[in-house]
Amino acid sequence: MQRWSDGVEYDKPSKRHITLNGEVTHCGTAIPDDATFKPVTLERWPMYTDCYNCAYRLWPDYGPADYIRPKNSADFPPRRIC
Ligand SMILES: [Zn+2]
Repeated sequence: MQRWSDGVEYDKPSKRHITLNGEVTHCGTAIPDDATFKPVTLERWPMYTDCYNCAYRLWPDYGPADYIRPKNSADFPPRRIC
């Protein structure tokens, strides 16, 4: 299991969740032992996750200011405000 300096990770393949501590995702999904972590930055995590619940809970604190917050689970990936 890899760790990254910014602490943002997600697992595959079931759904790409976001975790900041590597132990629990933001939607509350337990991370399986065989989860694959990929590095993403706090600025770019909305481009990688497909878990609406993770995004919903992370957005108030970590949502990028220049992206539109997704309205529902089908509203991925987030679109840039233009
Ligand atoms: Zn999630």
